[in-house]
Amino acid sequence: MQVAIVGAGPAGSHLAHQLRQNGAEVLLFDARPAWEKPCGGGVTSKALREFEFLHNGPAPKQMVSSLRLISAQGRELTVAPRHDFAIYSRRELAMMMRQRAIEAGAKLHVACVEKTEFASGKWQLETSAGEFKVDFLVGADGASSVIRRRVGVKFEAKDFAYALGWNVKDAQPPTRVDVKYLDEISGYLWLFPRHDHISYGIASGYQETTPARLKEKLLDYIETQDPTAAREIRSGNGKATANTNFYAAILPALDVTTWDHLSACNAEQAWALIGDAAGFVDPLTGEGIYYAIKSADLLAQAMTSRVADYDPLWRAEFGAELRRASELSDRFYYGNFAGARLTERMVQFAKRHRGVREVLRDLVAGDQGYVDLKPRLLKNVFRFG
Ligand SMILES: Cc1cc2nc3c(=O)[nH]c(=O)nc-3n(C[C@H](O)[C@H](O)[C@H](O)COP(=O)(O)OP(=O)(O)OC[C@H]3O[C@@H](n4cnc5c(N)ncnc54)[C@H](O)[C@@H]3O)c2cc1C
Repeated sequence: MQVAIVGAGPAGSHLAHQLRQNGAEVLLFDARPAWEKPCGGGVTSKALREFEFLHNGPAPKQMVSSLRLISAQGRELTVAPRHDFAIYSRRELAMMMRQRAIEAGAKLHVACVEKTEFASGKWQLETSAGEFKVDFLVGADGASSVIRRRVGVKFEAKDFAYALGWNVKDAQPPTRVDVKYLDEISGYLWLFPRHDHISYGIASGYQETTPARLKEKLLDYIETQDPTAAREIRSGNGKATANTNFYAAILPALDVTTWDHLSACNAEQAWALIGDAAGFVDPLTGEGIYYAIKSADLLAQAMTSRVADYDPLWRAEFGAELRRASELSDRFYYGNFAGARLTERMVQFAKRHRGVREVLRDLVAGDQGYVDLKPRLLKNVFRFG
């Protein structure tokens, strides 16, 4: 079987590798050479354990051993995850994952897929590198996927979040991650250290506030960490400077109802969606790299027997979890508890309760799901003083 994969991010590159292991002929397309995709680049210890190539691969990564949570009122809590997690430069991660796909025998075309047509059981692709005919089409082309629209899967504004930030050169980045909650947005701002720079970013619901407001909030925070970088960014007037680069992007944050109706494949029409193209991002945290790779794994598995099994597979593996995250999202960011924001109380409570701290630590590591979060929290609150 000949498969065309549109997009060579983590989802597309991993699928290309897996399908080659199963003997398929794989054409992998990406509009750009490996690039610094807007992203924090954070990969949980759960993902590192599950995907050996991440753990042992040649892409440089900054290992992180502590996470500082900062509430809107400035309360701070430092959590040490059970295992260290990793922060990647997305360009370096893409280089490694594409190379792995090529070595497995996939044919990579750095070319934009411009048009796709399904006729007589075949997909015809028009690309900037010419025309191709294949048996099966996979959309791995990210949050604004054209393949998703082409196959008729509809997302609305409420299914997206928006993020922006700056990558700032730093020869000796810290080994600590910062996550800061803010009262007025359903999201957070972050400092993610990479091996030679720091990714500062801020995410909110789509059109929840203005980019100018998000920039100001983030710059105020950068000022507290690196006043020189903040000054350089301000003087650059939004343009790249010697040490800083601005980025902005949408990311999927699917609404509960969208999860209920989502189908990410069609065997008769020979297509499937993986990663961001399918909306597989945690709506509460924005984590998507793990789900991109995992969905590629599951699709490769389904394609060895029945493509239609892909939908029940991803639903069982992580769909219920991500749907639950979507259900919790508003309550998490805007909910109040005992007269203050839930995030405020969470930080305050966790400082005092070892049980709550342990749940938070496992959440960060990717070892604590959302479906059984409430019962475990209640159990732990009453178990520990
Ligand atoms: C600001 C921000 C911060 C984030 N932080 C994190 C984080 O810390 N940790 C985490 O796990 N997730 C994070 N995410 C989410 C994460 O970036 C995505 O979930 C992940 O990149 C999805 O991988 P993918 O392969 O599905 O898509 P992508 O990585 O977006 O790859 C899609 C590829 O498709 C290509 N493409 C698009 N259209 C075409 C076309 N027509 N023809 C050919 N090629 C095309 C693009 O060039 C791109 O390389 C963040 C997202 C944002 C926006």
